[in-house]
Amino acid sequence: MQKDGILEAETMAPGAGERGSETGGEASVTSRAKKEAVQTAARELLKFVNQGPSPFHVVAECRSRLLQAGFQELKEAEKWDLKPERKYFVTRNFSTIIAFAVGGQYSPGNGFSLIGAHTDSPSLRVKRRSLRNQAGCQQVGVETYGGGIWSTWFDRDLTVAGRVLIKSPSSDRIEQRLVHVERPILRIPHLAIHLQRNINENFGPNPETHLLPILATAVQEELEKGLPDSGAPTNQTDRHQPVLMSLLSAQLGQSAEDIVEMELCLADTQPGVLGGAYEEFIYAPRLDNLHSCFCALQALIDSCSAPASLASDPHVRMIALYDHEEVGSESSHGAASLLTELVLRRISASPQNLTAFEEAVPKSYMISADMAHAVHPNYMDKHEENHRPLFHKGPVIKVNNKQRYASNAVSEALIREVASRVGVPLQEFMVRNDSPCGSTIGPILAARLGLRVLDLGSPQLAMHSIREMACTSSVLQTLTLFKGFFELFPVVNHNFAVN
Ligand code: ZN
Repeated sequence: MQKDGILEAETMAPGAGERGSETGGEASVTSRAKKEAVQTAARELLKFVNQGPSPFHVVAECRSRLLQAGFQELKEAEKWDLKPERKYFVTRNFSTIIAFAVGGQYSPGNGFSLIGAHTDSPSLRVKRRSLRNQAGCQQVGVETYGGGIWSTWFDRDLTVAGRVLIKSPSSDRIEQRLVHVERPILRIPHLAIHLQRNINENFGPNPETHLLPILATAVQEELEKGLPDSGAPTNQTDRHQPVLMSLLSAQLGQSAEDIVEMELCLADTQPGVLGGAYEEFIYAPRLDNLHSCFCALQALIDSCSAPASLASDPHVRMIALYDHEEVGSESSHGAASLLTELVLRRISASPQNLTAFEEAVPKSYMISADMAHAVHPNYMDKHEENHRPLFHKGPVIKVNNKQRYASNAVSEALIREVASRVGVPLQEFMVRNDSPCGSTIGPILAARLGLRVLDLGSPQLAMHSIREMACTSSVLQTLTLFKGFFELFPVVNHNFAVN
């Protein structure tokens, strides 16, 4: 089974077709090289995930990779002067980012090849007034964000990460800084089984009263007093634990008094790793949906790195990574906002063609990339028997006729053509009729923009746990598919005679 899995991973690698003519020794060298390519891609994903403890950090990481790859930053409030074969990106709220590369053959009215994903993940967020003291413990009030499996947040070594707004004492300027305390400072301990005998039958923590993490004790704080930086009075100290404020100010190298406001996520300090006997798994936080963000970002960058590829493209290649998917996407910078349309209109705008945007929409296509549910070996009956995605068997097309997913025969046929050209296997997922179904940004953007959308994602287990699980081959498979999509979609679309 393990061996088959790795072979499956290899079959999607470009150039795998020659294996039949190889001798045994050469084949095993090729096989090792292909596994190495799979593992390298998975390790790259881990670096990205470990850099992204909050949506702000995810956008910062994307921004820095895009700048490094020669993309130019645009501001929404400024005029854009876009040129063919050039690459750009724009952020909103610093938690949503849209990056695009204009094809060398692009003219207004041509289509967009789009991949969408989301930067946010279920987490606990520090409340605006988080100061809580009980039983000699200094605690931090938190709000649940998204549909997390909150029981998995117990007994983990937690920290905080997010953004703070800082007012410079000299200039009165307010600026944003990212902060990430890179050591375990918070813990939500379980109540001992002796005090709740039925915990293994049903554990349902109350999200208001049972999820308060412990930061310190009053006794220890008393002992530490007099040591440097025990928390100067700030406009935040009546709202948060002074020791939390001093940890943040130490991290920022900034006085706690200068912190005007902050948005902090709790995050697990344990980094993502490769796991399993053959290191074929990824154990990591936030795979939903940083796996898709990473593959979309890297595919866009890689697809533009061969200049000939972008030079001959009549489309605009674009990725849109949105905040707030886990809470319904209705915000100024969520997938339901006007942002995507505004960006598409600005790129299409032309004095020579006043209906360029309207002409572009039917030529455009979006992959709504979000993770899929692999079948769980201990819960086989939760999946409909013909729709059980497996590890290593390829990205999963998600279908729901009730439009919880936006895929249809047209968007599926187009991606199948791309996938077959780049040698990536695909799987399908539909929920059982007696099961609830998740949703994605796919139906939202399909409704808002009217373009063709496909819902697709890599198979994973433990979705919305603090620590999720995927397979290593899914990264290279998805990357290869997305890169192929950017490079081949205009041609595939041109040959597609279905309205
Ligand atoms: Zn998701």
